[in-house]
Amino acid sequence: MEFNIKRKLTKEITIGQKKLGADNPILVQSMTKTKIENLSLLKNEILSLINAGCEIIRIAITDKNSVISISSLIKEGIFKDVPVVADVQFDYELAILALDFGVDCVRINPGNIGGLEKTAQVIEKAKQKKACIRIGVNSGSIDKKYLKNNQNDIKTAIVESTLEYVRFFEKMKFYNFKISAKASSVMDSIYAYKILSDKINYPLHLGITEAGSRFDGSIKSSVGLGVLLYEGIGDTLRVSLTDDSIYEVKAGFQILNSLNLRNYGVNIISCPTCGRTKADLKTIVNKIEELTYDIKKPLKIAIMGCIVNGPGEAKEADIGIALGNKKAAIFVKGKVLKRVEIDDVFIEFQKEIKKLL
Ligand code: SF4
Repeated sequence: MEFNIKRKLTKEITIGQKKLGADNPILVQSMTKTKIENLSLLKNEILSLINAGCEIIRIAITDKNSVISISSLIKEGIFKDVPVVADVQFDYELAILALDFGVDCVRINPGNIGGLEKTAQVIEKAKQKKACIRIGVNSGSIDKKYLKNNQNDIKTAIVESTLEYVRFFEKMKFYNFKISAKASSVMDSIYAYKILSDKINYPLHLGITEAGSRFDGSIKSSVGLGVLLYEGIGDTLRVSLTDDSIYEVKAGFQILNSLNLRNYGVNIISCPTCGRTKADLKTIVNKIEELTYDIKKPLKIAIMGCIVNGPGEAKEADIGIALGNKKAAIFVKGKVLKRVEIDDVFIEFQKEIKKLL
């Protein structure tokens, strides 16, 4: 029997050349970490993100020069397949400038950009440029008036402020927007998104803000986003990590793949190891992960610690390795294809993967 999540059908919006919301795929996004002043390094990071499958790229705009730098990358055509979002805090004029220079979307928090009057000017520019806006409320930058009104209850303040901004956008007859309502607390984020999903029908950008390291951040994001996605909530997501941005993309796809909401790239199945393990499985798994991270086609790879149980335990994998004493078995759908020396395992394995792709 098929067991699938029923997604809530939100309004479809346009961001650059992509559609978001409704029954479009849930898009995985990330944000660059390189200083914008170092344009060649930033470009490398953007290209690595695109190579890793990132579907929307956000860049922090800090001043006028950073807008000019982004516009040079737009002109180069680097964002032709992947929309670019300018992340602007405090300065509504920078948001307007970024839209003028051709970004596909601006992320603003009306609460810290100068209030609704200034927000209105950003909205008018987005209308004119047919761009998208992300209303990005989060626990760190919430307008103090909402905190005061709600006795410092962050989750309620997030919901209340977001709903007020949404009403304002509607009053201005601008509908090409998505919403994020992130808190650093997983439970507060779940609460805010659930209430918002009940009350409004615009696409939601899911995330847990300031989630932490690769390990902690991935866990918090998987729990928080997993609960929401399971309930059919969410149209795009970012896993925020204090680590390289490509891990954010990897974690995002892994969360969606786990819930059968996407079927993207490599899914590595590896055993936890035990007393029967014959080789350094941890190093081998890390290496295979490195070698295959940019594969976009769905591929299940099993890496198992012993020949006795390995191939059988990982029957559903498209391809796998089971380690013996000095040799390793490469198997396909549970059947051993060949046995190779442990030292040759990476080369032989890559050859077989190429055949499958
Ligand atoms: Fe142990 Fe083999 Fe199972 Fe790995 S596959 S946990 S080595 S029995």
